[in-house]
Amino acid sequence: MLLAQIHCSDPRCVNELEMVVEQLDELAGLVCDCGFGFQLGSVSELRPDDAKVTHVQFRRGRALRRLAA
Ligand SMILES: [Zn+2]
Repeated sequence: MLLAQIHCSDPRCVNELEMVVEQLDELAGLVCDCGFGFQLGSVSELRPDDAKVTHVQFRRGRALRRLAA
């Protein structure tokens, strides 16, 4: 999953959006309220898998602490 930051292509318009998409193609055809299209600002990758790993490590840490007590 990608987090795309896009902004309006009209320099007088300050509209900015953050969109979560699977593919950047999904951003094609988006039109700002003012009628201009959007330009891509930056893209970052979202990794839901990493959050899962962190959760497992957290639970393991709690179990160890319970053993030590
Ligand atoms: Zn606009």
